[in-house]
Amino acid sequence: MPHTGEEPGAGLYRCTRCGQAVHLDDAGDRLPPCPECHHTEFVSASLTERPRGARSARRLNED
Ligand SMILES: [Zn+2]
Repeated sequence: MPHTGEEPGAGLYRCTRCGQAVHLDDAGDRLPPCPECHHTEFVSASLTERPRGARSARRLNED
């Protein structure tokens, strides 16, 4: 189970407390605290959900 500060790899992660999705774009990105509740424990959601609507862990100029 990934936690804030870890580098679990690119993909979608979901806060275990409030369900907020956080998307990491690169394998070297660290998980931030939950942007909604500042919880630090996440579950990987990449296998079951698309990153649509997820908040990026960092700002990009793509989109
Ligand atoms: Zn949360």
